[in-house]
Amino acid sequence: MFLAQTRDWKVAVSESFRDLDALLEFCEIDAVHAGVDGGPEFALRVTKYFASLIEKGNALDPLLLQVLPDARELQLVEGYSEDAVGDRQCMPVPGLIHKYHGRVLLTLTGACPIHCRYCFRRHFPYSGNSADYSVNSEVMSYLSRNTGIREVIFSGGDPLMLTDRKLAKLITGLNRIAHIRVLRIHSRLLSVLPERVSGDFLKVLQQFNGQVVLVTHINHPNEISESNQAAFRLLSQQGYTLFNQSVLLRQVNDSAQTLAALSHKLFESRVMPYYLHRLDKVQGAAHFDVSREKSCRIYTQLREQLPGYLLPTMVEEISGQASKTPVRCD
Ligand code: SF4
Repeated sequence: MFLAQTRDWKVAVSESFRDLDALLEFCEIDAVHAGVDGGPEFALRVTKYFASLIEKGNALDPLLLQVLPDARELQLVEGYSEDAVGDRQCMPVPGLIHKYHGRVLLTLTGACPIHCRYCFRRHFPYSGNSADYSVNSEVMSYLSRNTGIREVIFSGGDPLMLTDRKLAKLITGLNRIAHIRVLRIHSRLLSVLPERVSGDFLKVLQQFNGQVVLVTHINHPNEISESNQAAFRLLSQQGYTLFNQSVLLRQVNDSAQTLAALSHKLFESRVMPYYLHRLDKVQGAAHFDVSREKSCRIYTQLREQLPGYLLPTMVEEISGQASKTPVRCD
């Protein structure tokens, strides 16, 4: 069974909002944050699907706040940097980040269907640091000779902005390396553009010889509707494991009630809550930060409300550490 496809996903991407006034008009919101357009490097971008989930007339809608450029992004804040998680120190070859034991991450593209204002890679130099995955590339050679690598993570930007043909080429290359057993794909596109889960895409995933894990990036229960739920269920029926990671964001999801509702809705959609990240301290995102004390208060309440299997692990990424660090709230 495949989702009823009304049109090509690339057409849907091309129809994304890139203009602040057009987005606000669509959302029936009077001009707010006048004159802030996100700048040329991290311009506004929102899929029509995501915009359709924003409550009309609500300038404080939690989905809108994730994508609305804000003048506070221009302030330099102490303790915040352009490379908050130390990605650039961990690239043995361009486009490949090797931080943790047994797994590597490929930055396949800088393109995204949506620009999340809190993005920790908003300053990442994709030019020159996007993975070349042709057969004899440095990336494939690194993966072949490092036999301890068991899992490859497709990331970006959003890796599902690559065409199915390019994804298939990558998978063919990985299939030639016997010790790569797990392919993990982190994508916001799975939720903000459900058309992407097409029959052709499913055929591409089927080509991988090992296990496929898909990680959605959803922060608020309102981001889940019948359309992306159908896509998640379809992927689950095909045997793929689905996890979700969220970022704890001020004014977006900083309450136990919201996060509990998200966990329940994810589970109904066959997606397991995985990580709740504290904000990575990237320049331009400080206004989304939730203090450690408040984060712990929320998390303690969340633990009281949810069964253990629906409780995401709250973590933070500390540059130079051998894994994500669980946040201690004792
Ligand atoms: S989709 Fe991911 S990589 Fe792209 S802007 Fe959003 S958080 Fe950043």
